[in-house]
Amino acid sequence: MDYRRKKRWVRYNHIKCKMYLRNDFRFECAYCRMREQDTGVLGEDNFEKDHFVARASGADIDLDSYDNMIYSCSKCNGNKSNKSVELLLNPCIDNIYLGANPHVKNLGKDGQYQLIANTVEGQQYIDALQLNSKFYREMREKQEQADKGNSELEKIINEISNLTDMPDALIQKCKLLVSNNFLLQTSNQQDSAFKCGHSRAGCAFQDVLEILEKRAVPHELLFADKDIDIKIEYDGKEYLCEIVLNDSAQKPVRCIHMKKEQRESWIASGANYGVLYYYMKTGRLEFYGVDEDNELMACLNDC
Ligand SMILES: [Zn+2]
Repeated sequence: MDYRRKKRWVRYNHIKCKMYLRNDFRFECAYCRMREQDTGVLGEDNFEKDHFVARASGADIDLDSYDNMIYSCSKCNGNKSNKSVELLLNPCIDNIYLGANPHVKNLGKDGQYQLIANTVEGQQYIDALQLNSKFYREMREKQEQADKGNSELEKIINEISNLTDMPDALIQKCKLLVSNNFLLQTSNQQDSAFKCGHSRAGCAFQDVLEILEKRAVPHELLFADKDIDIKIEYDGKEYLCEIVLNDSAQKPVRCIHMKKEQRESWIASGANYGVLYYYMKTGRLEFYGVDEDNELMACLNDC
């Protein structure tokens, strides 16, 4: 498989669904491997939540579950439309591009950036998504050029870093400029603003991080399995937390409701769990410890 989709309870319409998808799918389209930074200013806006088994199929599975979601560029989503899964490969099951025996291979510059199939299924996949059309061949060419440019830039930055008379501040400024311009993928992915993105959920996550910083609560963004978004330290203990976003309440709701399966699964694993409950309308942030009674432990923002 090319990607591992994490265990999550969110569904298609959940405010955090797209943010989770882009992190699980490494910020790229799982069908054609176009990356967010390949789309220039559009970035994540050019990507969509795709139902792998199409809604229109009427298949007897839970079509809106997270397990049926794929992070897809708008072009692939359009080309895929309601095509039968029989014609496709599943990026979370099959080795489409990666692994020892991938179904398809990129021929690169000398092959005009066409994909060639190693298997019958690979050929069907290329045809179904029209992956050898001009659009995708140009995309692969641009990707290759961007990668070359990035590695040259990295070399230059390393050389600059080795110059003894170059001020540190200037080097840091160069690095920041490069990462802010989405040129170096590795730098982007370490950056919490990039991981959260700029969807409503992403902006709310950024707000939460800001509050934690202001309150000097040690924290680390995780986006881990089981909807664990962040690790925080509170009262000398580490808590694995989900950030729950409430986008409608004006007043504190005073209690939190969790899915039974989620709560049981958390408690069974023995770590300390919590919920950071964020009221998007008022900016209030509460921290609950998840145990028998989900007790409110602190209000981290005075709203
Ligand atoms: Zn795509």
